[in-house]
Amino acid sequence: MDKIFLFDVIIVGGSYAGLSAALALGRSLRKVLVIDSGKPCNRQTPHSHNFLTRDGETPANIATIAREQVLHYPSVSFLSDLAIKAHANPDGFAIETAGGQQVRSRKLILATGVEDVMPPISGFAECWGRSVLHCPYCHGYEVTGQRLGILANGDTAYEMGRLIQHWSANLALFTNGPATLTPDQRQFIDKLNVPIIEATLTAIAHEQGYLTELQFADGSAYALDALYSRVPFRQPTDLAEQLGCVMSESGLIRTAEFGKTNIPGVYTAGDTSSPMRQVSMAVTNGSLAGVWVNRELIEEDLSTRHLHVAN
Ligand SMILES: Cc1cc2nc3c(=O)[nH]c(=O)nc-3n(C[C@H](O)[C@H](O)[C@H](O)COP(=O)(O)OP(=O)(O)OC[C@H]3O[C@@H](n4cnc5c(N)ncnc54)[C@H](O)[C@@H]3O)c2cc1C
Repeated sequence: MDKIFLFDVIIVGGSYAGLSAALALGRSLRKVLVIDSGKPCNRQTPHSHNFLTRDGETPANIATIAREQVLHYPSVSFLSDLAIKAHANPDGFAIETAGGQQVRSRKLILATGVEDVMPPISGFAECWGRSVLHCPYCHGYEVTGQRLGILANGDTAYEMGRLIQHWSANLALFTNGPATLTPDQRQFIDKLNVPIIEATLTAIAHEQGYLTELQFADGSAYALDALYSRVPFRQPTDLAEQLGCVMSESGLIRTAEFGKTNIPGVYTAGDTSSPMRQVSMAVTNGSLAGVWVNRELIEEDLSTRHLHVAN
């Protein structure tokens, strides 16, 4: 694919959200190009949960089945590449890839996800998605009743404590430095019988990503099976900024209903614009964006045909 092609829709990001949009558009007979660089955020997790019909499946298998089903529609193509430039032109959008492809489309869907930023704690990145967990709905059931920890402080620690406590009676809070809980929050956590450990965390000891103990600057250690933690994230690409999309304070692409951004013709789907990080949500948002983009194309095409309806 080395010429400039015109597609109805280019979807940047071919994971759960992007493929779901492509499915709706392929079934709507739209000529679609999905560009994907192959780095979904859950790639390190051994099993994905809480998505109906695929509970406990590997993330890669879900994506493989999705790709096979989407590419069954002849008007959908898939390009393994990294989109690096995007701009609007009078007919739509132009995308340039790291592999040197230049492609154009009438509409654009950004489904590029987010990139989790690992803290500089030895062992954290290796355990991410395996025994350091971001979400109890995704992985909480599998560690029910085990020795669990929460790595958080202040309001986040309080909120996570409320959320996690019923998955295990063996739960501890690690604030990684002096606790910043309010007196009421501390009293609540004490009443749950959750110990609060304020020592500075230096390392997570593990065996192939499976946590064995937390190790602290004061030389102490705490044996644990799983640790909940929320980490910051960033956008993996600046395509949205290149196009002039408005970002939210939390760093997501700001959208109105059905994934519409402030730039006409540019839609988003999945984690890149939604704080509800679940495969099911990404699939839902992708499908909605696909349907709405198709509606927009229908309306534009019909408006040029001057179809008059007699009263
Ligand atoms: C460790 C972990 C475990 C998780 N476990 C679960 C679970 O068990 N159950 C569950 O429901 N959810 C889980 N989630 C959440 C779920 O993985 C995400 O909500 C989902 O992957 C979001 O899908 P997405 O398509 O929006 O983004 P992603 O799946 O992250 O995919 C984004 C895609 O866009 C591509 N991309 C980015 N920039 C470009 C570019 N410039 N050009 C081309 N391609 C680009 C990336 O390579 C990637 O393939 C987990 C998340 C994490 C981090």
